[in-house]
Amino acid sequence: MPPDSPDRRECVLCGCCLEGCPLLEATGREELSPRAKALLAGPSKFDAARLAEGDVAALTGLCLACGRCEKLCPQGVQVPALMAAMRAAHPDFRQWLWKQWITRLGPYWSLAAKGAALAPQAFVDTFVPAQFGLALKGLKGLRPGNGLAPWLAIAAFPVQAFRARYGDRPVALFDGCVGRGPRAAWGETARLLLKGLGAHLAEPRFSCCGSTLGVAGLPQEQAQARAENIAAWREAGRPLLATYCATCRKGLADYAGPGADGGLFADEAEAAAWAASLVPLSALLEGAKAKAGRGAPAIVGYHRPCHAEAADHDFRLLSSLLGPRLRTPAGGGCCGFGGVMQLSAPELSARVGASCWESLDTALGFSAAPEVTPAYVLTGCSGCVMQLLATAPRGARVGHWLEIIRQK
Ligand code: SF4
Ligand code: SF4
Repeated sequence: MPPDSPDRRECVLCGCCLEGCPLLEATGREELSPRAKALLAGPSKFDAARLAEGDVAALTGLCLACGRCEKLCPQGVQVPALMAAMRAAHPDFRQWLWKQWITRLGPYWSLAAKGAALAPQAFVDTFVPAQFGLALKGLKGLRPGNGLAPWLAIAAFPVQAFRARYGDRPVALFDGCVGRGPRAAWGETARLLLKGLGAHLAEPRFSCCGSTLGVAGLPQEQAQARAENIAAWREAGRPLLATYCATCRKGLADYAGPGADGGLFADEAEAAAWAASLVPLSALLEGAKAKAGRGAPAIVGYHRPCHAEAADHDFRLLSSLLGPRLRTPAGGGCCGFGGVMQLSAPELSARVGASCWESLDTALGFSAAPEVTPAYVLTGCSGCVMQLLATAPRGARVGHWLEIIRQK
């Protein structure tokens, strides 16, 4: 076990993480807090092996993997990694999860990816268990053609700044599962933006970033996805790696992060080159100028994904392009997606989602006069888009910020 493995970091019960946990905030239940989970799954505190599989499924399913706690922990305890390790150590949990996903929701994923119409509501109401209603709602919201109408034209690209910083280095876009599937339009717009910058595009064949596989307790599948992505990047000549999903970016950064499998890369230099090659698409566009056209909402909300990097380049870019039109809750707020948790505890996921919408409402004021200023929210994470679509109040519009960019 590496010395900086998350498994070895001990919780000292300080409670610094508590204020960051959206699950604790939404429920007030200390047993769902990161401190309780660190005790449950941390080193030598509790014999988790003695827990019944049903208990493990229940306990480890109750974490959003948002990572807010680890950012506040002075000990460096990584609760999401501990939960993932625990899920992996209990194969029954994985079987349970995949059985639910593949047998109940799998057909909807492929339908969505192919752009086909989803099952009629009457069929869903009759045959799909209520437990999957939230996930299904998010999938339905992602269907092609249901995105936002574009209204922002890029008037000037920061070509000189891009060239000065990166020269002729090729850029590969990492689309992620949603950007490759039901929302392929994100990738199309992103490529046009890169062309506007004068970037030379490389097109390696990437796999899933692997982060949701890791969170679901599938470390082997995650390692395979990571190895495939590194091989594709290497083969393409180690291009700059631009991302437009905050969770994909974090998932890719974790390949070379603390506690990562050192054997993924040829050597430390290659791991450092990988880490240095990662850049949010929005960071490349900083300095761009834009013009809002017909259909531009008077007030635009921004939801900051939990996995956004500290600098949050998406917010910086949107602030500069949209000016005072853009508003965001002061304290942010987790959307409650949580991957596994959306399936295992949809009512809790929805409760965190409702609290997120309340804070958006405080910042945007849409509930006071929804006919005049309906909720309109942008974000930069596939999971957040899905969850916000699933939990949105009636009439609200939600999308990735790429959706508002006009392609011509
Ligand atoms: S990862 Fe998020 S939901 Fe899970 S314990 Fe930490 S703060 Fe709470
Ligand atoms: S997980 Fe970290 S921040 Fe939370 S109680 Fe333990 S040591 Fe403190």
